[in-house]
Amino acid sequence: MTNLTGKTRLLAVIGDPIGHSLSPLMQNAALAELGLDYAYVALRIAGADLPVALDGFRAIGLYGFNVTIPHKQAVLPLLGQVSAVAEAVGAVNTVWWDGDRWCGTNTDVEGFLSPLRPLARDWSRQRAVILGNGGAARAVVAACQMLGLAETWVVGRDPERLAAFERSFADSPLRGNLHTALGSELERLLPEAGLVVNSTPIGMSPQTDASPLSEAQAALLDPAAIAYDLIYVPSPTRFLQQAAARGCTTFDGLEMLVGQGAVAQEIWTGRAPNRETMRRVLRQHLFG
Ligand code: NAP
Repeated sequence: MTNLTGKTRLLAVIGDPIGHSLSPLMQNAALAELGLDYAYVALRIAGADLPVALDGFRAIGLYGFNVTIPHKQAVLPLLGQVSAVAEAVGAVNTVWWDGDRWCGTNTDVEGFLSPLRPLARDWSRQRAVILGNGGAARAVVAACQMLGLAETWVVGRDPERLAAFERSFADSPLRGNLHTALGSELERLLPEAGLVVNSTPIGMSPQTDASPLSEAQAALLDPAAIAYDLIYVPSPTRFLQQAAARGCTTFDGLEMLVGQGAVAQEIWTGRAPNRETMRRVLRQHLFG
């Protein structure tokens, strides 16, 4: 924990509920390691209080904040400037005061990309299959477009929600080659997929035996593919176990969690935090 001083700059994560947030743990550990005079706290803010909270943050000189469920969309109209990537995703998770106004961006996209960027892959010849069409899937679609994937397929269970998802990207510069499909098309889509992402909560603790892919579907995974689960507890998930058994490269949600937090911290402080420290404190907290 940072030693608080008269000059300590305050950072926060806002959401409702917020008590489960792991951000204070990893942010404070990395800030302390760099010897930076900042403190990062979790604040529960009800939706109706969001505008007054932002006014209050300005009044007390809050340096910056993360935004989590359910405020990631609602905060957008309250900001003076929103990055292109956050506009495309339709959600903001990182906010800072530029001296004049609140500015927002979405670091979930860079967080998701963190373990993928160092890989030597020709993404322009690859297909992504994203399981789920919720909030996190939106960041993954934007990330796939930034990587330059040839095709991005979002697979869901509800035709209307899938159609709405596709429509919401219609005018976006990050639309890319986006398609949607029902789960019944997985047998066709999976064998040619170079990146398969679980953005559903299926497999999350306590339903740790569940996977978004049946055993027969998992057997269709290309061993050269990357399987990426946004879930970080348990580790590995059933989905990542299936993929590892096929020989796929696997990444879990801890990489995205650490990545989005590290990019946010660098925006606020101008210093790159030690991601290994962030990973270590999270693993210690989650798995002992
Ligand atoms: P969300 O907005 O609620 O979306 C969940 C998606 O999963 C929806 O498309 C939903 O389908 C689908 N789904 C839920 N249960 C299903 C089931 N039984 N069968 C088939 N589909 C199902 O949630 P989210 O914010 O996108 O988060 C999704 C996952 O990503 C969660 O596990 C979350 O913890 C994780 N996540 C991780 C990070 C990270 O930093 N690692 C960041 C964000 C999210 P319908 O639309 O049909 O209901």
